Amino acid sequence: MRPEGSSFSLMSSSSTPPAQALYAAGDASRAAFRHPQAQHEIRLGQALVAYEFKRARRRSIGMVVTVDGLTVRAPKWATWADIETALRSKERWICAKLVDQRERAQKMAASKIDWKEGAVVPFLGEQVVLVLDPRVSGAQFKQGEPTLPGIVHQALHLGLPQQATPEQIRDAVQSWLQREAKAIFQDRARHFADQMGVSVTKVSLSSAKTRWGSASADGSIRLHWRLIHFSVSIIDYVVAHELAHLREMNHSQRFWDVVRSVMPEYADMREQLKHVTIPD
Ligand SMILES: [Zn+2]
Repeated sequence: MRPEGSSFSLMSSSSTPPAQALYAAGDASRAAFRHPQAQHEIRLGQALVAYEFKRARRRSIGMVVTVDGLTVRAPKWATWADIETALRSKERWICAKLVDQRERAQKMAASKIDWKEGAVVPFLGEQVVLVLDPRVSGAQFKQGEPTLPGIVHQALHLGLPQQATPEQIRDAVQSWLQREAKAIFQDRARHFADQMGVSVTKVSLSSAKTRWGSASADGSIRLHWRLIHFSVSIIDYVVAHELAHLREMNHSQRFWDVVRSVMPEYADMREQLKHVTIPD
């Protein structure tokens, strides 16, 4: 199964809503976009766009939207009226790209884990706090530990010294996550295989760039280990999806009927999976 959307970590919709619709009333914070090297600005719909401008040896007026914002490159002959007309003719495209890039940057910042004691890692859709604890060998998961006054968290104790490097911490956490993933995926696969009347010969982990899971005619399935960050219902959907391929090696109506038979609410999970963010 391939993630649906433009990239692996950001499942954004490819449809482009009209520029006006992007700036719903009350959402004024979204309506200003300023490139760090901006020298000029223009109002496009309700958005104030401050852009970087460069004269260049080229035939036409070019526009690029990056995480920084909009950059416009124009040939020597282009007047300000020409440039403004060109920007207005691409207004919808520019605004949609600016919003996309902003959301992308926000999601990336939110999913960036700072690998140190106290960092939070998503596990089965919940937050797990990391604790460096040299007394522990390997890693030990503790349910409901009071880490802050009045706040009870799940904690993962790692057998590492306080001076452990971010790489050591990340490696320890990821190998624990992968062990858990293997055990949990096997358990869920057994559960659904019984209900579907299929036999699974092997469940293995993958770290494929572009797919959450796959199934082979020999009865083996592969599931992306990063699914362990998400809720059990999302994991169940991917497991049920791949197992259903052991009955139907396609995405026909019969295939979806098999998925629905064990997971009537599969469409919700399928939708949620399009919007997940993978922490890194
Ligand atoms: Zn599929």
